[in-house]
Amino acid sequence: MSEDNGLDADTLAERVRAGDLRLYELESHATDADAAATARRQIIGERTGTSLDAVSNYGVDAAVAENNIENMLGTVQIPLGVAGPLPVEGADGEREAYLPIATTEGALVASVNRGCAALRAGGGARARVTKTGMTRAPVFRVVGVAEAEATVEWVRDNVAALREAAESTTSHGELLNVTPYVVGDSVFLRFRYDTKDAMGMNMATIATGAACDVVEAETAAELVALSGNLCTDKKPAAINAVEGRGRSVTADAVLPTEVVEERLNTTATAMAEINRRKNFVGSAKAASLGFNAHAANVVAGVFLATGQDEAQVVGGANAITTVEPREEGLYVSASLASLEVGTVGGGTGLPTQGEALSLLGLRGGGDPPGSNADALAETIAAGVLAGELSLLAALSSRHLASAHASLGR
Ligand code: NAP
Repeated sequence: MSEDNGLDADTLAERVRAGDLRLYELESHATDADAAATARRQIIGERTGTSLDAVSNYGVDAAVAENNIENMLGTVQIPLGVAGPLPVEGADGEREAYLPIATTEGALVASVNRGCAALRAGGGARARVTKTGMTRAPVFRVVGVAEAEATVEWVRDNVAALREAAESTTSHGELLNVTPYVVGDSVFLRFRYDTKDAMGMNMATIATGAACDVVEAETAAELVALSGNLCTDKKPAAINAVEGRGRSVTADAVLPTEVVEERLNTTATAMAEINRRKNFVGSAKAASLGFNAHAANVVAGVFLATGQDEAQVVGGANAITTVEPREEGLYVSASLASLEVGTVGGGTGLPTQGEALSLLGLRGGGDPPGSNADALAETIAAGVLAGELSLLAALSSRHLASAHASLGR
């Protein structure tokens, strides 16, 4: 071992103070990842006059996070709660899910739990993934519209060649289609993949890179950026709301009248009015992309708990909630257009996140591949449904209470 390797935390910190090492270089000179993080806390603590005792208090080996973080300082701990059981009839049959939710928002888990109880009493939720496909849309430069049209023609005629190149980079990913878009002298190709149990953003990006090499070799188009924002990743975008991204998934339920009245203290008619005025009229007036009460609460809580890419709450929480009175009671649905989730890859392999997936019975790859991520999407959609039911009911029963008061009943 050279004198520059296998250093303990104090020596690493000394080397940084002396200007011999940069903060991001510590791991490659340390005895282990924990020593590097400890030295980094010493330096940052000194420079900022901050005690970092709390962030140093973690139970995982820092080495397991090496693929997930750079310049590791410690961890942030977020309380983890559980809602359920939540009965979900999905494509693979019936499951009783305990929904892991990581949040600092008091009352959220209680609210979702109340929705789960109503769904249990009402016979459970159904959920299905209706469309699958992770997208990556590179942008190419052409000289003008004639070259753009020629490029698009070539792509339409040669999807098989693009598929061969893309799929050579992965044993799980499958190229589903390529949709071209032209804007002036820019050509966008929106590649859509079945990424099975992976959320698939790395997989799709690597596969698309290989396909772009073929496009550049065979056409006059020149690649400008592997991501041209028409994908669209981590930005609110109508294309995801309309075309879907990741998984498009819907959960629904029919609650008998007595469950609506006794468990939710409201009526189907009152719930439908609130949903129409709030989730449809209010959202339309606000030009919102989402037409729901608080889908992001459940999506974000489960994303954090299960190691999803938290920035994808942007698209993942894009949901439409519908409520209508029916003869037998209340029909309610939540449709999430672009839920980007996986049970392998990214943060899903970290110890606490893996445990959260285990309690759902969905850790790792499914059999057949893709079935675990489908089931996770179904479960999250059912959780959103529970959250929507509970919040709409809370608003509705308050409304009813004030109406009763004003009517002197
Ligand atoms: P990944 O860990 O990069 O890839 C998934 C891996 O799991 C692949 O190597 C795949 O192998 C393997 N695998 C094993 N069993 C599988 C199964 N049953 N189904 C699917 N794959 C299976 O994960 P990713 O989902 O593609 O990417 C997620 C990461 O991308 C996150 O960390 C996220 O933060 C990050 N991200 C990247 C970008 C980007 O532009 N690169 C953008 C946003 C987020 P094979 O491929 O050999 O089949």
